[in-house]
Amino acid sequence: MKTRMLKIEGPRKLVLVEKELVLEDDEVLVRTLQSSICGTDKMYYRGEMPPNEKYPLFIGHEGGGVVEAVGSKVDEYQAGDLVMSFSRSCTFADYFKTKPINLQPVPEGLDMRIAALGEPLACAMHSVLESGVQLGDTVAVMGMGFAGQIMLQGARKKGATKIIAIDVLEDKLKLAKKMGADVTINPAKENLYQTIMGLTNGQGVDVVFEAAGNQDSLNACSAILKHNGHLVLYSWLTQPVTLNMHRWHQNSFKIITTTLVHHTKYERIVWSEKAMRPFQQGLIDVEPLISAEYKLADIKEAFEESVNNDEIIKIIIKP
Ligand SMILES: [Zn+2]
Repeated sequence: MKTRMLKIEGPRKLVLVEKELVLEDDEVLVRTLQSSICGTDKMYYRGEMPPNEKYPLFIGHEGGGVVEAVGSKVDEYQAGDLVMSFSRSCTFADYFKTKPINLQPVPEGLDMRIAALGEPLACAMHSVLESGVQLGDTVAVMGMGFAGQIMLQGARKKGATKIIAIDVLEDKLKLAKKMGADVTINPAKENLYQTIMGLTNGQGVDVVFEAAGNQDSLNACSAILKHNGHLVLYSWLTQPVTLNMHRWHQNSFKIITTTLVHHTKYERIVWSEKAMRPFQQGLIDVEPLISAEYKLADIKEAFEESVNNDEIIKIIIKP
């Protein structure tokens, strides 16, 4: 099967190459209906490479499509099934192939536009489910990108009474307000610590979600968290950082790491079903988080837009 596929050759160097996909016995061939740009794809694009990885590489792990064919040893899927990608399967392509374990079936009744966002949705929702947010809690979300906006809505559904959205970009805060944040704080413009202490009787928040992924954000999270609070670590930090961990120990934080796709793959299969349920049930508003749609042919433009435009939350790509 011939396909176009996105290759990243270096920082800001993207090429759509033509490739012939040969299906192995234990693989599934999927016709891409939609893929999307993840914050981590932007890191590769900007040149913030994780240790152990080198250019050139093929990226794209978010997306979904319809099974075109399966290898002779595959019995989990058959042609015509709708699937979501949960692993780096090079989804910025007309077709992609992968092992069945890297896919999830689309939950019944879920629109494909939302289902193709299954991986980022399930990851963010898994954080919500694991966060320990309880009825009456004050919750802070640090970083109001795609994941942060899901965490905000999920925390509300779990019973949080006061939700504080934090970001240095005003457009992201504006959206957070629309999605139900009680308070928004821009730490570039006001003193985050003092504002939070003012809002919480000098106690700090019960739960903080770290979804910004940098040193300042992590240190701010540990400054605004209550004694015995829950520190929910979501972001992928590919560069070394210096952390002030004094309070992690002294104030007995409960540290929760929530990256769903980095559990074992078998665990992930069980968890993703649970994590997709709130979307299947329509409890979370995803549509306002889709900022733009591009054709695969225009993917270079899409990446430039995603790193240059502060208003962008999620960009979807269609073949
Ligand atoms: Zn992702």
